[in-house]
Amino acid sequence: MSRTRPLWAVIPAAGAGERFGGDVPKQYLPLLGRTVLEWAIRPFQARADVAGIIVAISAADDHWPGICLSSDRIQAVQGGPQRAHSVLAGLNALSGKADARDWVLVHDAARPCLTDEDLDRLVDAAAESCGGLLAAPVQDTLKAADNGAVARTVDREGLWRALTPQMFRMEELASALQRAETAGFLATDEAAAMERMGHRPRIVPGRADNIKITRPEDLALAEFIISQSGIA
Ligand code: C5P
Repeated sequence: MSRTRPLWAVIPAAGAGERFGGDVPKQYLPLLGRTVLEWAIRPFQARADVAGIIVAISAADDHWPGICLSSDRIQAVQGGPQRAHSVLAGLNALSGKADARDWVLVHDAARPCLTDEDLDRLVDAAAESCGGLLAAPVQDTLKAADNGAVARTVDREGLWRALTPQMFRMEELASALQRAETAGFLATDEAAAMERMGHRPRIVPGRADNIKITRPEDLALAEFIISQSGIA
């Protein structure tokens, strides 16, 4: 593996969770005795080779001080209006500590079901390339719609759902996100910003149950997945 230096993690956790609704942002909802965010951070805390974890939180966040993450490896920074801004804020906070070529893992705060095994496989595979991401093949037949009716069926062959974590070199990712922002390109994940710069991130097949909490019913599903998969 082409990796001798430590890893870093950036957790964008500054979303308001508008699709989810409710008073408490979804990353702070209780899930099997912890918050969703604590579950999302857990696999990175568990690795001795992760030197630091930056959590990007919203300026209005009054839940962060209440969660119990006693570790001097974890630091909170203020996120931004969109996910990409929050990730950039996290990368900026790393710039004094990490080397430009160090690998950074970006993982959604709203994904509590990441297994240690998937993280291991991503780290090994992405470090052999320009970086990479966990992804799951599309299983359903896809329809393009127009005014509520099917316009056409989309061939699902070769289509993947992009998950997180996504792993890239710090400086390359920061520059790709910065350039995307300057060009007005909305990168909804890190890979999209890297692709825009001509890179071809490695697709690392991951578990389809590494779900992102988006709707209220996803919480019960996450509870089931965590208790069944032996994540502790
Ligand atoms: O809204 P969505 O579920 O796609 O957000 C994905 C992740 O990005 C979540 O963990 C959310 O907290 C984070 N995010 C952020 N800053 C924003 C918007 C979303 O850190 N401005």
